[in-house]
Amino acid sequence: MTSVTTTCRDLAELLPAAQTACRLLFQECFKAGIKNIFITETYRSQERQKYLYAQGRIRPMQIVTWTLNSNHKSRLAWDIAVGPPQSLYDVATLNRVVSISKKLGIKSGGAWTNAIDQPHLNVTY
Ligand SMILES: [Zn+2]
Repeated sequence: MTSVTTTCRDLAELLPAAQTACRLLFQECFKAGIKNIFITETYRSQERQKYLYAQGRIRPMQIVTWTLNSNHKSRLAWDIAVGPPQSLYDVATLNRVVSISKKLGIKSGGAWTNAIDQPHLNVTY
């Protein structure tokens, strides 16, 4: 049992299709010279999703999620960030990751029109 404030970064908590897609993405990014991205979150419980949804709405601070029904909950999504020397959410690097993910059939939050979320990646059925 994990707490709502605990972030799960374990790839094994995702469904096999998402694990495979994520590994392939990291391989392709590595080949393209992007060697400093890393996973910040994978699976989220419904309780944690509710907790995050409340941030910026019920609790103060910046809004971090747009839905109560995230595909993190369905074990199909993962979030990434960029390591040094770039900044954590370096736009140029994330744009390159998004275009590589598109070629692999992975959906990216960078393609959403209502609420752009570049570091978010997911597969669908
Ligand atoms: Zn996400």
